[in-house]
Amino acid sequence: MYEHDVLVVGAGGAGLRAAIAAHEEGADVAMVTKLHPVRSHTGAAEGGINAALHPEDSWELHAYDTMKGSDYLGDAPAIDTFAQDAPEEVIQLEHWGMPFSREDDGKVSQRPFGGLSHPRTTYAGAETGHHLLHTMYEQVVKRGIEVYDEWYVLDLAVTDEDDPSERECHGVVAYDIQTGEIEGFKGRKGTILATGGPGQVFDHTTNAVANTGDGPAMAYRAGVPLEDMEMIQFHPTTLPSTGVLISEGVRGEGGILYNAEKERLMFEHGYANNDGELASRDVVSRAELTEINAGRGIEDEYVHLDMRHLGEERIIDRLENILHLAEDFEGVDGLDEPMPVKPGQHYAMGGIEVDENGESCISGLYAAGECACVSLHGANRLGGNALPELLVFGARAGTDAAGADIGAPEIETGYEAKSEDGDLDSPVELGAVGGTDVAADGGAVTGAASTVEAAVERARERVDSLMDGDGVNHAEVRADIQETMTENVNVFRNEDGLKQALRDIRGAREHYQDVSVHDPSRTYNTDLIQTIETRNIIDLAEAITAGALAREEFRGAHWRQEYQYRDDENWIKHTMLAWNDGDPELYYKPVILEGAEKTYEPKERSY
Ligand SMILES: Cc1cc2nc3c(=O)[nH]c(=O)nc-3n(C[C@H](O)[C@H](O)[C@H](O)COP(=O)(O)OP(=O)(O)OC[C@H]3O[C@@H](n4cnc5c(N)ncnc54)[C@H](O)[C@@H]3O)c2cc1C
Repeated sequence: MYEHDVLVVGAGGAGLRAAIAAHEEGADVAMVTKLHPVRSHTGAAEGGINAALHPEDSWELHAYDTMKGSDYLGDAPAIDTFAQDAPEEVIQLEHWGMPFSREDDGKVSQRPFGGLSHPRTTYAGAETGHHLLHTMYEQVVKRGIEVYDEWYVLDLAVTDEDDPSERECHGVVAYDIQTGEIEGFKGRKGTILATGGPGQVFDHTTNAVANTGDGPAMAYRAGVPLEDMEMIQFHPTTLPSTGVLISEGVRGEGGILYNAEKERLMFEHGYANNDGELASRDVVSRAELTEINAGRGIEDEYVHLDMRHLGEERIIDRLENILHLAEDFEGVDGLDEPMPVKPGQHYAMGGIEVDENGESCISGLYAAGECACVSLHGANRLGGNALPELLVFGARAGTDAAGADIGAPEIETGYEAKSEDGDLDSPVELGAVGGTDVAADGGAVTGAASTVEAAVERARERVDSLMDGDGVNHAEVRADIQETMTENVNVFRNEDGLKQALRDIRGAREHYQDVSVHDPSRTYNTDLIQTIETRNIIDLAEAITAGALAREEFRGAHWRQEYQYRDDENWIKHTMLAWNDGDPELYYKPVILEGAEKTYEPKERSY
């Protein structure tokens, strides 16, 4: 068994920032990650990092834009903390050597992004995430922080009291991809999940194949509720054939969206008469699909994003990477032609319920970055707000897990925060099939070492049983989930489609009972890893769809055909789903609109 003070699962932006912060508090920190740190998906981030740095800007304006962008489903304590701390985090990155794009006078450049009232997005060309990862990984190497890379975390080591809020997390159990060993990792002070987004729940996504939502699924089965899972962001500019992202930076620099009739659709059809292409992402995605459904799409599938008028010099200077992506994946030269784009799954606003210090209701278990829900983005994330989130809340989680006092959180977690029971008219049973796939049933285990040992034992048995058989290939089950989610739980949603998705997910869950690993090798067994990831994808697909079916209103990214209006009287509340040892329970908790300096009053959201 390996032992450290603080374990960080995942080495993308959130994991790296958390590890550095915990190390600064004197903790012995280790990172456990299925990918090498600089191959993490943060490296794909293109457009930038929002922070109120300019003298004419302020954290209050950034907080207001974020709350408005969230469609009043974000929690004010998280939003205020975020907007206040983001500038310091960006300055810290610059001191660590991040090569930000600059103006002629040497100041860090800031460009406009959707939903921002001030040009606030700092960037490094159109490769911001790549430079962010390398800058922070250098700090990790410099500090000698141990990185167990190519270790796949299979499960959490959590005690098994009946009441989840009495449980404690003592570490994780992981599979060494290079040797095939399964080992325990004890986190003496804390375990931080930083495993990224769940994009692979959908088949048209900007997310990498590694983004399978492992952290939220593990935390959910261990007893931490998932929050606002129905809030999935669909980015308006993805390449139609692959889902590869064309950054919002293109529209930030002045790129224009046209329909098949060569109309500037955002203005011509009144979707956003003030901000046009730079309206918030949910607004632009709905506009594009409305055009396509009305027969004004190109080849009935996409619209055009044109940046030719920006001129070659500016494009090469600020958006060169976009030229390569359009050329490599669509065969289009962005200097000469408009680029084809359509909405694609991009980001999960919901995730593991945590407070502003990153801690969940299970003592010692933290989460940060896209896998967590603090809740900052509410029903819709503003472009450029995910990278500062992982910096601000990654740092807070690392500091708190290491034992430093950063103050009591205002956001409540776990069942204590519950205000209302949920009411879900599901056509099928949710959760475990016949009690056979319940994760946390280790017997009466107490004490840190024996909790980790019991988790290792369970994981070894599970892997042995998956490798012993000639059952269904995980790929069939995964494809069924991705297909129904893309068909039925997309930008436009309705009751029939959501119920169909729940039936399909149930079918996939039952099918998964017969799954087995066909590659007999113990080393580099991607068949084994993907089989386990598929189980996580099933749990998250169900949570997303259940939340979407229950939320009978239109808010942010969640549009319902039957309820085309925002219902503030009944729905300013967070959707919570607790695994409840295999028998999921839906409930709600209040949204906190009282901020540090003011109470945010819900207003009509127009751009
Ligand atoms: C194409 C694209 C462009 C984007 N551009 C921007 C932008 O310009 N600005 C912005 O603010 N946001 C942007 N976003 C969003 C933002 O980049 C992500 O939300 C953020 O980078 C996620 O970081 P993370 O650290 O949470 O996760 P990731 O960077 O995805 O890292 C996850 C880590 O977890 C590890 N991991 C996962 N599961 C396991 C497991 N079971 N065992 C061990 N390790 C595991 C992985 O190895 C990896 O190291 C973009 C997103 C995409 C997809």
